[in-house]
Amino acid sequence: MAVDLLDTRRCPLKPACENCGEDGNATGPLRTVIVDTPVGILCMALCGGCTDAEAMPSMGYPTAVDRVLQHCGHLGIDADQAERLHDALREADR
Ligand SMILES: [Zn+2]
Ligand SMILES: [Zn+2]
Repeated sequence: MAVDLLDTRRCPLKPACENCGEDGNATGPLRTVIVDTPVGILCMALCGGCTDAEAMPSMGYPTAVDRVLQHCGHLGIDADQAERLHDALREADR
């Protein structure tokens, strides 16, 4: 079965924007967005305003790695599979 690394349908929705802490009522509904980081693909909850501004919280390397692994869990794949899928995405981008 092919897994789409960019699929957010199984990612749990967070209670508040991870950038500004807004619960989404003032600036539009929270969205789960995909972020392509040097350590892999991760998902993040952002409000409408932050999504439009392409704002996101800065994240240390260990946190980013942890978040990449969490997103693997959402997709039901392991880190090796995610890395291969990420490599394939980068190839396709070229
Ligand atoms: Zn926000
Ligand atoms: Zn996820």
